[in-house]
Amino acid sequence: MTQTIKSPALVLHSIRWSESSKIVHLFTSEKGCVKAIARGAMRPKSPFCGTLENLNHIEVILAIKEGRGLQLVSQVSLLNPFSNVRENLEATAVAFAVSELLRAVVHENEASQPLFQFTIQILEDLNSSVNRPVILLLIRYLLYLSEYLGFGWNLQICSGCKKIPQKFPLRAEIVNGSVYCPECVSQTSLKTVPLSFDQWQLLRQLQQASPTTSIKPEIPSQPLIDLLLSHLSYHTEQNLQLNSLKLYQR
Ligand SMILES: [Zn+2]
Repeated sequence: MTQTIKSPALVLHSIRWSESSKIVHLFTSEKGCVKAIARGAMRPKSPFCGTLENLNHIEVILAIKEGRGLQLVSQVSLLNPFSNVRENLEATAVAFAVSELLRAVVHENEASQPLFQFTIQILEDLNSSVNRPVILLLIRYLLYLSEYLGFGWNLQICSGCKKIPQKFPLRAEIVNGSVYCPECVSQTSLKTVPLSFDQWQLLRQLQQASPTTSIKPEIPSQPLIDLLLSHLSYHTEQNLQLNSLKLYQR
């Protein structure tokens, strides 16, 4: 049975297929990740023209048949191409990193409205904040993703004494996504890494809200990204790498 669905979607990946068609990997709010073919999309006068580019926010009508590997795109309208993101290398790298994460963690046939809305919000923030340290939006996204998938970080209190940490640096424990004060870290036998007061405060701020210009940009982002990725990799049983960021940093 073929089912027609209309859903907001993000184009995660788009490749040319044959002379005239495209295969697209979409993240839809109604059906999670969907791979679909857009017939005739490469023709100059195609109604799909310009709508199925990577990172476009679209509304799509899909003909979905269960068990079929490749679904069919029947109609697309462009909602937001995030033009400012494309003009900024770092913002583009972050947006592609978000896309990589989605391809790794979102399954097919899995409604994901809250994750979809959060993803679009992050891309809109990226689109309107090209003068800010945009890498912080990626840290916020990684924190949210852990939360959404059910293993969010508990940064507020020490997992040993259950009190708000007073002494720093803390130790961050990757498996449970928790923190320990220096006195309590002996209570865990799991691997921990140091977390300074500034890093701890930054993570807590980013758990609550999108970064503003008042956040100290001088805190190195890479150790925090590595920490959050290790946690996410552990729980999703994948070795998440974010190659888009490596391209930018090279
Ligand atoms: Zn403690």
